[in-house]
Amino acid sequence: MTMKLPVYLDHAATTPCDPRVVEAMLPYFTEEYGNPGSRNHRFGWASEDAVDKARASVAALLGASEKEIIFTSGATESNNLAIKGAAMMYEKNPAGQTGRGHIITAVHEHKAVLDPVKRLMREGFDATFLEPGPDGIITADMVKNAMREDTILVTLMWANNEIGTINEIPEIGALCKSRDVIFHTDATQWVGKMPTDVERDSIDLLSLSAHKMYGPKGVGALYVRRRKPRVRLVPLQEGGGQERGFRSGTLNVTGIVGLGKAAELCMAEMDSERDRLLKLRLKMERELTAAIDVSQVNGHAEKRLPHMTNISFGFVEGEGLMMAVKNVACSSGSACTSASLEPSYVLKSLGIGDDLAHSSLRLSMGRWTTEEQVDYTIAEVKKAVTKLREMSPLYDMHLEGIDVSKIQWASH
Ligand SMILES: *Cc1c(COP(=O)(O)O)cnc(C)c1O
Repeated sequence: MTMKLPVYLDHAATTPCDPRVVEAMLPYFTEEYGNPGSRNHRFGWASEDAVDKARASVAALLGASEKEIIFTSGATESNNLAIKGAAMMYEKNPAGQTGRGHIITAVHEHKAVLDPVKRLMREGFDATFLEPGPDGIITADMVKNAMREDTILVTLMWANNEIGTINEIPEIGALCKSRDVIFHTDATQWVGKMPTDVERDSIDLLSLSAHKMYGPKGVGALYVRRRKPRVRLVPLQEGGGQERGFRSGTLNVTGIVGLGKAAELCMAEMDSERDRLLKLRLKMERELTAAIDVSQVNGHAEKRLPHMTNISFGFVEGEGLMMAVKNVACSSGSACTSASLEPSYVLKSLGIGDDLAHSSLRLSMGRWTTEEQVDYTIAEVKKAVTKLREMSPLYDMHLEGIDVSKIQWASH
């Protein structure tokens, strides 16, 4: 059988929707189309029942209770609601005086965390952006050292979306609990793939997104702790008072049903998938770094998600590498969102130089990734790097024993 190309290895960007998820959603478009807020007829009840069932599935995935799940449009909205909503609720000096409170986050968070925090800074809050070590990990000690009398919120992702490294979430949760500081985690890359227990890990607020766990795009959830402590939030949008008043607006019933089904499937298949994908990732890392000199896996070797890796290959140019492996759909370490080709701020935060940051690939596998696809990818990347290096004068100099990093370029 021939393999379908290109191979999709960009599951950290988004996952395909599981056909079982689509099947579960379908009746809610055309048959059960009631508004769950319609309390006086069976159309409304049927929709409400479906939403309740989905809420229970998402809660079960997190070790939470149903009443603690707020449905949103995705992790970006969940992060905004958690961060802005908590900061405004727990601020030290309301009425906009200076010193409204201190927030702790990290430099290599997703933009959907960094930008809400920066917005709050413009509005009188103070923030510390922790810097990871070369392993990419934020430890509880780093958080402890940054804590102040006026710290009101800590927001740190569970696992990083570019490099897959895992922060010390249980320890940070325990620390925040002991200091009565609200703890939010953007768990978008973690949930559905790794066991999650908000009670055990003392998490107050947790963001997740359906489309990163084989559900549909445009739907997500925010876990909001209801006891010990009962976390309150200032809502970002007001209206009909849905979702306990935290998130007004008619519920996205089809999306929510999809998220619920996706959560169920993740629960059932998590353990076997984790083992299967870990083996494939280790194979990919082992074979690529063994075959290609001047290459490195970025971030901690063990404290990382099973299904994704981020590897830099010296002496190749990032865009060229992406072009050369066009039959493998993956991401590079360059954020080509703007006109300028900036190396990834996440890789730079680990102390990785611009050269290696530019020449990195993020390869993230998923539910339908096969060993055949992984073998193909290994062969394609090897071929591409070899070909690009044949055209690289710097690589020739490196082979001749010249330390290329010590060269003084005329233009500098
Ligand atoms: C994808 C992602 C987001 C954004 O999620 P959306 O549902 O697309 O808004 C936020 N944080 C992390 C870590 C992500 O990987």
